[in-house]
Amino acid sequence: MMQEPFFQDKKILVIEQSPKTVNDRTWCFWEKEAGLFEPIVHHRWQTLRFYSGSFSKEFSISPYQYKMIRGIDLYALVKKTAAAHTNVEWRQEKVTAITTENELALVTTDKASYTAEYVFNSIHFGDIMQHPLGAQKGSRDVYLLQHFKGWVIETTEPVFDAAKATFMDFRVSQEQGTTFFYVLPASPTTALVEYTLFTEKLLPPEAYDEALKGYIESYLKLKNYTIQHEEFGVIPMTNHRFPLQQGRVVYTGIAGGQAKGSSGYAFRFIQKRAEAIVRSLAACKQIDLHHSFTNSKFALYDSVLLQVLAKRKMPGSEIFAAIFRHNPPQRVLRFLDNESSLLDDLQIMRSVPTAVFLPAALQELTGKGSTFTG
Ligand SMILES: Cc1cc2nc3c(=O)[nH]c(=O)nc-3n(C[C@H](O)[C@H](O)[C@H](O)COP(=O)(O)OP(=O)(O)OC[C@H]3O[C@@H](n4cnc5c(N)ncnc54)[C@H](O)[C@@H]3O)c2cc1C
Repeated sequence: MMQEPFFQDKKILVIEQSPKTVNDRTWCFWEKEAGLFEPIVHHRWQTLRFYSGSFSKEFSISPYQYKMIRGIDLYALVKKTAAAHTNVEWRQEKVTAITTENELALVTTDKASYTAEYVFNSIHFGDIMQHPLGAQKGSRDVYLLQHFKGWVIETTEPVFDAAKATFMDFRVSQEQGTTFFYVLPASPTTALVEYTLFTEKLLPPEAYDEALKGYIESYLKLKNYTIQHEEFGVIPMTNHRFPLQQGRVVYTGIAGGQAKGSSGYAFRFIQKRAEAIVRSLAACKQIDLHHSFTNSKFALYDSVLLQVLAKRKMPGSEIFAAIFRHNPPQRVLRFLDNESSLLDDLQIMRSVPTAVFLPAALQELTGKGSTFTG
């Protein structure tokens, strides 16, 4: 990874509280070309499976590839890349405050204070379990939690087809809200099996383990396996528009609202914003981020879907089944990546019941409040 010339004479300080030595997450995303993280792609698939009570299908996503990156590999790559540049310094400190004034950003940590031309902040200082507006939250403000637990399991016999990944399997109880599993085999004997829910509250810890055990036994038909690794995560699914930038503080990641409201996917959106920031700095030496028309269009779609899910107007399993049944997977992936054309969007909209989605869309478009401005 090369540095843009603009950055070569800048001092870049990374302040991170953790040593980043734990494999705490696995990222999956899709792309057509070889991406920035190609050397650390752990596994990739071009055939995905979708299952629900009413519709199941196996499909090729070519020219896309569904790629998996392990957290630990990304942390190691970032540290190695940083170490190769003498202008990048890494300090293990806990940030306690970030402010901006007079064309500068100010960072306070448990050990020191810093000023900088820009701060790129990925720390969510609020409580991830709560809507940022707290009690001020309006009736159209949706804040669901996407929570998931995953196990990397290993078997002694070869049982998985490592060329095919289960993208979503909704054939499980939908009682709590939208609930699905995904299964990502990295070899004939290992797979990441993940239990995912979109609901308002977390489950008791043992409920995730019971569900994982049940799914592995009932659907993967496995009794003998060992758990090599586990991960747990919570991502906000909301129509709240997080600030992109305040003065010299630029928000990135979940703190910058980059988890897509209706899917929770964030990895590609984070990379795309990082690229936009680098381009902007290289071209005009400053950053002026704002929500584009395209951003606002997809925020509207996300909000409509979130309203339907949160108010339980139609089960998420049926919505995703209808979308996958009536559209080629490439169009669905473009749509989920906020890269679909207006024609794509209309075709996706035609696949879901107008009687459910039109009232929700009209409510969004005519409702008061600032949810879709900006
Ligand atoms: C288990 C898991 C699996 C996921 N899988 C996917 C996936 O498959 N695909 C996808 O698109 N998205 C996925 N996501 C969502 C999203 O991509 C990740 O959450 C991603 O890591 C978000 O990046 P971020 O920079 O916002 O936060 P983080 O990666 O969490 O980075 C924030 C950093 O800030 C540090 N920090 C926090 N507070 C302080 C402080 N006060 N001082 C100093 N440092 C601090 C933390 O240690 C951390 O390193 C997943 C999330 C999780 C949790």
